[in-house]
Formats: sequence, structure tokens, C-alpha cells
Amino acid sequence: MRAVYLDHAATTPVDPRVRRAMEPYLKTEYGNPSSLHRWGRRARMAIDAARETVAAALNADPAEICFVSSGTESCNLAIIGCALKAPPHRRHILVSAVEHHCVLHAAEWLVPLGYTVEHIPVDRYGQVDPDAVRARIRDETWLVSIMHANNEIGTLQPVEAIARICKERGVWFHVDAVQTFGLLPVDVEVIGCDLLSVSAHKVYGPKGVGALYVRAMTPLQPLMVGGGQERDRRAGTENVAGIVGFAEAVKLAQGMLPTEAERQTALRDEFIRAVLQAVPDASLTGHPTERLPGNAHFRFAGVPSDSLLIALDRAGIAASSGAACSAGSLEPSHVLLALGWDETAAQEGVRFTLGRDTTWDDLAYTVEVLRQEVARIRATRSPARPTAGGRAVSQKTPLR
Ligand code: PLP
Repeated sequence: MRAVYLDHAATTPVDPRVRRAMEPYLKTEYGNPSSLHRWGRRARMAIDAARETVAAALNADPAEICFVSSGTESCNLAIIGCALKAPPHRRHILVSAVEHHCVLHAAEWLVPLGYTVEHIPVDRYGQVDPDAVRARIRDETWLVSIMHANNEIGTLQPVEAIARICKERGVWFHVDAVQTFGLLPVDVEVIGCDLLSVSAHKVYGPKGVGALYVRAMTPLQPLMVGGGQERDRRAGTENVAGIVGFAEAVKLAQGMLPTEAERQTALRDEFIRAVLQAVPDASLTGHPTERLPGNAHFRFAGVPSDSLLIALDRAGIAASSGAACSAGSLEPSHVLLALGWDETAAQEGVRFTLGRDTTWDDLAYTVEVLRQEVARIRATRSPARPTAGGRAVSQKTPLR
């Protein structure tokens, strides 16, 4: 059967070159980077080199990079770690309504401790208006967190403008760049943020590794305590192989910028055009141009996303209805609800995310499967169909 993987926002395959770079650290180079002997020193050198690579890609200082276990931990550390340093009269936090759950839930976690969390609404494309951030910053505001690009609908956020506002008002600013890092330029000086989160498995690196950029002087309370690793910001013996793999993945991704983004953008636009043409009552979700290069998210009216995803899977196509970590949830997507969609519409969204190996052939096949399956599901679900006289009758009513 044909296999077409269009879920690169959920995760990407590990590049073979990344695997090769990691291998020595899973075999002979097993030293603990905190050990003083040569095994330890070699592991430490590998981490130091990886830190320089990740820092250079972000235009940061190596000392500002803290390796962690995931994008989730990075966002948790940014939100909770920074908030725990807030003085009692500065316990107001602003996050957009479309953040990943690792930001939203981290912010909610602070509420029982006396923090107030406010959600900034988005427009129908899922974009935050910088003026809406400005209007909500008060004297008590300590931290603002806005993602660089949304993982479900792909919409890019005006993070530079928001960073300027935060700076003017003396508020710390975190950016979740998990979906953009490695595909679009992510420069902490251009953005002007204080904290920024990235993850390895979205850029053809291994799962279970991420990093938090922490601008010098940004207050941060560690969430993991124990040893003094990562400059006392994150205790625990480092995942040496994972960190080395992350750096290799970053190097490879940097080498492909911006060619790969341009290639994916062109393919994506062609795919969007073809789907909208082939499938009746299909609509594109998110911003038409300000979106992730590889993201195409649609609503197929009257087609529950779970039925369509099963049909696509049967045809060998991997897509998703939103964040992979919420995929088992029966709740409609909080991102689609934030766009103003009702609950039914919010159960009808399907996301396709392209990757380095995606070809037009894969997408043309997907368009054809979509055309057939959307029509088939609609036909099986349609409560009514017109009679010869044009009067609608229930499908279950025997025709006389
Ligand atoms: N933030 C965004 C925008 C994401 O898309 C994801 C993963 O899907 C995360 C954070 C969490 O990253 P990780 O899977 O490395 O925990």
C-alpha cells in the first residue's frame, strides 16, 4: 500500500546523519559529562559543541541555551520558572488563546498559587493583534507568552511587534518556536524575546530533547533540582546522545534554510488550490499567507475529522485533527474554538503537514483520496437527500 506521511508537525523521522552522529554516544562515548575523567570530559565537550551550534542557529550566546527533555519541558520551565520569580504584586500572566497545551496548562498550574492568567483572543485567522496585547498589559503583568507559529492551523504570529511592546512595558516575553525552528529563521535578537522554546523531534532530530533560550538576566526558578547541570537551571544528567543529535539536526536544517521552506510553501499552495477545487464545501483554516510553509489545514463541512482520518489511514495517508498529544481527546480543538467556530465545526478540521520528503505525487494522491472519501462520508451521514420532486426525505425513510 502507498504510504504518505503528512503529519510532520506531530513529529519528523530522524535523519540518518543525525542517527550516525548520535551512535558513538550510545556505544563507546558513554561518559557522564559531569565526571572529571577523560570519558566525562569527552561527553562534556560534545555537549559544549552542541550548545554552540544551537546558540549560533538562534543568534544567542551559548550560555543562554539550557538543554531540557522536550519542547513541553522548555515551555513549562519558561512559564512556571519565570513566573515563580515574580514579586507578589506582579502575578498577572498573558497567553494567547491558541497556545499549545504545554503553555496553557503551565499557566493554569500557577492559578492556585495566586496568579491570574488571561487569554488573548485571536482573529478569524488565528492571529494575535499586538494592540490586544498592549491593551491587556497592566502594572501587575509579569510575563507574556505567544507562539511563533500555531501547530494546528499554521498561523504565524507578529512576535517582533509583541516583543517591542513587552520591552516598552518592562514585561518578560516567551516565544514557543517549536514549530518554526529549523524551517524559518528564528533569531532571538530579531524577535527580541527573553525566553524561547525549541524541540529536536520537529526538525528531524530525536524525541525527548529540547532547549530553552534564556536571555542573560531573565529571572528563572529551576523546576528540576538536584545537581548543578545546565548552569543550575535544570538538574539531571544530560541526554548526551540526544543533545548531540539535536545539534546535528539543527546544522542540517540551517543548511537547508531557506530553500526547503520555499519548496514546501510552493507545494503547500498547490495542494491547497487542488483540495479546494476537488472537494466541495472545503475551506482553508488559518492565514492564507502568514502560515507555516508545510501546513495546510481544512474544514470539510459535514465530515467529522475522526471518520476522515480513519479513511485516510486506510488509504495509507497520515494526517491529523490537531495536536498529536490531544489526538485521543473527544474535546473539540481549543484552537478552532478560539477562531469562533462552533463545536460541530471544530470537530471537522483536518491538518496536513508536509516534510522534506513530500512530493507532488504524494499530494496529488491525497487530493484524489480526499475527493472520494469526503463524498463517501457525506453520503453515509447525510440525513436527507432530495427526491425527484426536490423535497428532502430522510435517507432512512423507505422511498415509495
Ligand atoms: N509547542 C508546540 C507549538 C508544539 O507543536 C509542540 C509539540 O507538538 C510542543 C510545544 C511540545 O513539544 P514536545 O513534543 O517536544 O514536548
